[in-house]
Amino acid sequence: MRVMLAQPRGFCAGVIRAIDIVEQALAKFGAPVYVRHEIVHNRHVVDALRAKGARFVEHLSEVPMGAITIFSAHGVARHVEDEAKAQGLRVLDATCPLVAKVHGQGRRYVAQGRVVILVGHAGHPEVEGTMGQIEGPALLVQTERDVDALDLDPDTPVAYITQTTLSVDDARAVITALKRRFSDIVGPDIDQICYATQNRQSAVRALARIADVILVVGAKNSSNSNRLREIGVEAGVPSYLIADGGELDASWVLHAAVVGITAGASAPEELVDDVIAALRRLGPVEVSVLPGIEEKVEFRLPAELLHAPRKAAGSR
Ligand code: SF4
Repeated sequence: MRVMLAQPRGFCAGVIRAIDIVEQALAKFGAPVYVRHEIVHNRHVVDALRAKGARFVEHLSEVPMGAITIFSAHGVARHVEDEAKAQGLRVLDATCPLVAKVHGQGRRYVAQGRVVILVGHAGHPEVEGTMGQIEGPALLVQTERDVDALDLDPDTPVAYITQTTLSVDDARAVITALKRRFSDIVGPDIDQICYATQNRQSAVRALARIADVILVVGAKNSSNSNRLREIGVEAGVPSYLIADGGELDASWVLHAAVVGITAGASAPEELVDDVIAALRRLGPVEVSVLPGIEEKVEFRLPAELLHAPRKAAGSR
């Protein structure tokens, strides 16, 4: 069996930064540090950080007064920031800078007197955070049908912004529908949707041209991983989202000459290795990497973390 790995795959700069923030906070301030929501959507990552002393909570009410608290890469709503302030928490913000950029776009459009329309998936923490960062009229649409259902006059000044992990094609279709519906509409170029999302989606499309089956390594609640699987399916290749090698079903790859593997932005490379190891248990495997974009994006850590002195050994 030939295994072809997509390039790029796996961790993006926002995820690397978020994990780094938790690890460095543990090193500098000592355990426990509190993390609101899963730092990134991957159980293996969360479990590894938990073992080092991170405590994951869904609500700030679970965090003791004054404790070190980290906001996840998905970002948070204004009211969460306010709650943290009221509780005197020492916040380290791991919101991906590209998500924070979307927050800024939304606020700017509201200041221009526009109704902001966020293209995204209801219930996703990034969407809740972005909607909660915009203090003004903001609406959420997910599909072209949602655009038709918007109760707004066609002359209303509107602006669109997007969730960072959407399928670029789906987002483009919804934005086209918005442009058809409204005469006074502005918004960023579709190319400005996160670089990592675009690169991983292009890579899975390339993979689909040569693979008989695609395995996407990622968590069920990872938005960008789900999009990768959908893109594989849309390209006509049976595609499966699996957390690790333990979830591999031998029947998926039984008749496949080429098995394509990619990984969502929050899935560590060791889980890709785990899936390859599971394939090896079925028979001989030859692994190669499909040529693709080499990413060099890096995001800086928050200044308050960079400048904090390292905890003295033995101190608490
Ligand atoms: S997928 Fe993009 S927006 Fe999301 S964390 Fe990674 S770099 Fe940031």
